[in-house]
Amino acid sequence: MAKFIFVTGGVVSGLGKGVTASSIALLLKKRGYKVFMQKFDPYINIDPGTISPYQHGEVFVTYDGAETDLDLGHYERFIDVELNKTSNITTGKIYSSVIEKERNGEYSGSTVQVVPHITNEIKNKIKEAADSSGADIVITEIGGTIGDIESLPFIEAIRQFRQETGKENSLFIHTTLIPYIYGSYELKTKPTQHSVADLRSFGIQPDILVCRTPKELDQSIINKLALYCSVDSKAVIEAIDVKNIYEIPINFYNQKLDEIVCEYLNIRAKKINLREWYELIDTVNNLNSSVTIGLVGKYVELHDAYLSVKEALIHAGYKFHTKINIEWISSELLKKEENMNQIFKNVDGIIVPGGFGVKDIKGEMNAIKYARENNIPFFGICLGMQLACIEFAQNVCNISDANSKEFDEQTKNPIIDLMLETKKINQLNSTLRLGNYPCTIIKNTKAHEYYKKVNIQERHRHRYEFNNKYINLFEQKGMIFSGMNNEKKLVEIIELENHKCFIGCQFHPEFKSRPTKPHPLFEFFIKTSIENKCKEKNVI
Ligand code: GLN
Repeated sequence: MAKFIFVTGGVVSGLGKGVTASSIALLLKKRGYKVFMQKFDPYINIDPGTISPYQHGEVFVTYDGAETDLDLGHYERFIDVELNKTSNITTGKIYSSVIEKERNGEYSGSTVQVVPHITNEIKNKIKEAADSSGADIVITEIGGTIGDIESLPFIEAIRQFRQETGKENSLFIHTTLIPYIYGSYELKTKPTQHSVADLRSFGIQPDILVCRTPKELDQSIINKLALYCSVDSKAVIEAIDVKNIYEIPINFYNQKLDEIVCEYLNIRAKKINLREWYELIDTVNNLNSSVTIGLVGKYVELHDAYLSVKEALIHAGYKFHTKINIEWISSELLKKEENMNQIFKNVDGIIVPGGFGVKDIKGEMNAIKYARENNIPFFGICLGMQLACIEFAQNVCNISDANSKEFDEQTKNPIIDLMLETKKINQLNSTLRLGNYPCTIIKNTKAHEYYKKVNIQERHRHRYEFNNKYINLFEQKGMIFSGMNNEKKLVEIIELENHKCFIGCQFHPEFKSRPTKPHPLFEFFIKTSIENKCKEKNVI
């Protein structure tokens, strides 16, 4: 049977609960355990797929096509495990399945209630995560802060879960804040005491406290927290602010957090191998050059809307010991083709990521045209690839009214269109192409040079596709279709000949990038951006 760890948060939100959970997962994985992660989100949306990127940030997509919270991206990047649709459960998901069962008569006449029906459903989702992954250890993060009304059913469910599975099979880790008060120059434990008291009022006694703090905790504070919160003093863990989040697992390891977890769960603390992680930290702390990437998007006011893209750029930078500076450029600013030289003055490469709707696409297309005409490395992702195709059709193939059906349903030249299958479904209920699809890489292309293989799988989240009617014309004008989904005959990757790097993909490669394993397409883009910068300075 799997063992279970539940991570709760107290005092304030934004403490780094997700990174705490991921760091513990990493240490356990490096000790040879199979680890799986799950996040409970107490909001009522079924998933974040319909929430504005301005509110919620990016929607992270799993290989099996679930639209999930961006914390899952942290999990995957830290532990390098592919999560699945059992990994992100919202209140909406729980209620909708309970209501569906009620309508199907599955509760045979009983009054359906929060306890036990909602809490049972939550407990089932914890078990499903364990069953679907076959993991030795499942770590579940409970979104929100203790005391929030909306997370109560989740708290009650994990309390019951522990009662049913036994102390040795599940563990409660509570993350809190130890604020530092300027003036009296002291760290304060009271907010933590109160949040543990809140947790106890719901029947949960934490086993381990992870204390976010700006200053080191001395032994007297640790003893005080241990005494007042009824936790072993060795289980009061300091989570001091760090410059580089990859240091957090090492800080925990130095305090033996993973050994304590193994002891409490009554499993062997197998030998650990952290070599790869130490190498990563060394790389991150010793970047010796920098490159500036212009990220042109619709939602740049909230950087979290492009979290995985940002991370994937940074990972590719690690490969070349290069720091990535991102210039966040709102596509709204580029509506007119004016001052382009000025706007892109310091930029070594231009990336246009995904997005939905017609707003500000003109600006994104102007950025693409600028990159194409001036031989500046360009990378278009999903919408970015679609817009690169429309720009190419308009300005290279001379189809002045080229467009996407997404922006103009009546367009005579739909370079980007719904694919046949979606067209049919669309009349009933529009749907997205979500999750993993295979792609065949064509040999002797840039895509092949970097992927170094022919068959790949990449994650998707889009409704529209390149319209194959235009393939021949595009090829005549110098476009290379370097990745295709052969089964569905869909364009997956485009690249331009006679350009140092002009590449676009219909999928979202950013979801598969890892700090220790950059994604091949990001690697191509960053490598050429670095070369571009060096050439300008006559270094190469
Ligand atoms: N809006 C486009 C589509 O639905 C692109 C989506 C995206 O960039 N994720 O096809």
